[in-house]
Amino acid sequence: MTAPTAPLAILNETFGYAAFRGQQQAIVEHVTAGGDALVLMPTGGGKSLCYQIPAIARQRAGHGVTLVISPLIALMHDQVGALHEAGVAAAFLNSTQGWEQTEDIERRLLAGQLTLLYAAPERVGTPRFLGLLDTLHAHGQLSLFAIDEAHCVSQWGHDFRPEYRQLTVLHERWPSVPRVALTATADDVTRADIVERLQLQAAEPFVSSFDRPNIRYTIVEKKDATRQLLQFIQQQHEGEAGIVYCQSRKRCEELAATLCAQGISALPYHAGLPADERQRNQDRFLREDGIVMCATIAFGMGIDKPDVRFVAHVDMPKNIEGYYQETGRAGRDGDAADAWMAYGLQDVVNQRRMIDESPAEEDFKQVMRGKLDALLALAEATDCRRARLLGYFGERMDAIDSEAACADQAGAEGQFDSKPRYTATFCGNCDNCLNPPEVWDATDAARKLLSTIYRVQQQSGLSFGAGHIMDIVRGKSTDKLAQFGHERVSTFGIGAEFSEAQLRGVLRQLIAVGALQVDAQAYNTLKLLPDARPILRGEQPVRLRAASAAPARERVRKPRRADTPPPAAADLDSAAQARFTALKAWRGEVAREHNLPAYVIFHDATLAAIAARDPQALDDLQGISGIGATKLERYGDEVLRVSRSAA
Ligand code: ADP
Ligand code: ZN
Repeated sequence: MTAPTAPLAILNETFGYAAFRGQQQAIVEHVTAGGDALVLMPTGGGKSLCYQIPAIARQRAGHGVTLVISPLIALMHDQVGALHEAGVAAAFLNSTQGWEQTEDIERRLLAGQLTLLYAAPERVGTPRFLGLLDTLHAHGQLSLFAIDEAHCVSQWGHDFRPEYRQLTVLHERWPSVPRVALTATADDVTRADIVERLQLQAAEPFVSSFDRPNIRYTIVEKKDATRQLLQFIQQQHEGEAGIVYCQSRKRCEELAATLCAQGISALPYHAGLPADERQRNQDRFLREDGIVMCATIAFGMGIDKPDVRFVAHVDMPKNIEGYYQETGRAGRDGDAADAWMAYGLQDVVNQRRMIDESPAEEDFKQVMRGKLDALLALAEATDCRRARLLGYFGERMDAIDSEAACADQAGAEGQFDSKPRYTATFCGNCDNCLNPPEVWDATDAARKLLSTIYRVQQQSGLSFGAGHIMDIVRGKSTDKLAQFGHERVSTFGIGAEFSEAQLRGVLRQLIAVGALQVDAQAYNTLKLLPDARPILRGEQPVRLRAASAAPARERVRKPRRADTPPPAAADLDSAAQARFTALKAWRGEVAREHNLPAYVIFHDATLAAIAARDPQALDDLQGISGIGATKLERYGDEVLRVSRSAA
């Protein structure tokens, strides 16, 4: 039987998937036909297949090899390994290889034995490599250029790589070879820069929605972040893989140690660790089940582990771009996943200080402050987080499942005295949609705080920090108050009815709306800004979320997904559960033998589907998502044996 060349047939046979997702089919057809493309798709959208399937189809049609540019040497091995598992001839060239190995790959390349070749951008500039490509091209065997993580070409992206700039050589030297550039970076500036830098003006743009419906967004008020995180993991993600982002290296290490002490397999990752330890920790995260990585933002680009079940932020990131990029690493496989953040007043203070103290130009600082404000507004929001996130990236959330949404909404309204007001959008999978927060009118508290700040400033010519101001408002006598004579301030005790937590929330909001400034140069003292005036005068109401109620876990909506979701491991009966466990153990052995992450062999969802089906013969494995022809042939018998022998 000859190998299929139609995209859908390749998807079915080689990758074992039943249908394309989203724009995949349009992209694959366009690129296979020799068109240039710029693909913007969120993390987990399935970008790899957008060039892998054209690579296979074009190779079978006699066009030769596809060159994939990828910035992360550390991950090439796994990417190529995954293709091998699917029976696709692929290799990579990078600086980790010896001379003999390199020669061998070059020989196979020139002999037409490779479908895909992965290389780092710096390699592309070398005379030897250019010579190789010339030879291939002369024989009509240079099929396609795929530029992965294309935002690396732009200094506006998160991961600028100067080497990406020299990729224009591909287009200039071999203008007839089609190119596809792919990225998950959403903003317009970066997008325009990619087009310009890579000269992709004539490429067809394919822009997908950046919504990640399977990710549930939750932002909680920070009380004791470590304890809250621990509770979140223990209650919702026991034994599952996740990433915890923190601001400092020290905090990464402390958190990892604390989690370990509680029986959670956690590892630290930050730029201050020795390179080999960092690599080792990353490998363990990718290869072992259920590792929690406590990391700074140094961790993440290109981490294509599909079964990261949660991304937690114990410190607030700098802006929504960073937040979305980081949370996007959860749930690439499409199964339910959590993006969880704890944030508090101190975060706001810290982030402001970092901006104020940075050596950047004032214009730049203004932009950074604006971006921070947008994130604060997201954190303080009482309406749908997803709508706000997508709105930030210029995308309107489509009215989804409006009937179900209305039903949910009606149910929710009865629960509260103050009726939650919805914007037209309701995603059903964020904390505010699932559990509409009670809102209280904090105008009075805000005025009391602001006028206290005003008065002590008038009286002593000094500014004070949040704790001191709250003590005055609540009428709490302290040594410090006595020292400054602040028990005699006319607002002393006028807000005794408010709890400290409430006042803290009000201060946070006042900072978020720009009524107050935290002066980092002067012990984080609070200063009034012009925007405080309308609030002081009572012209502008301040509405705040009340202390967060318990999350409503039962009103979980299934993630929206075009293809039928596979059975979750949690839904299996006990016999199937035993099969699933046995299959996982078997998969672990195979992965170790092949020196690959377990998910490269089979995803959890594939194993769960096998376990649910209780297969007795090879035929029973047909049609299970993730089992392509090569894997069926290679592992089918073993899978049957393991599944059947699990008691
Ligand atoms: P991205 O690079 O866009 O983050 P990947 O290419 O890594 O995404 O794909 C994410 C996951 O989704 C992978 O595990 C991949 O196997 C799976 N996937 C991609 N396309 C499909 C499809 N059409 N059907 C089923 N699974 C798919
Ligand atoms: Zn929502």
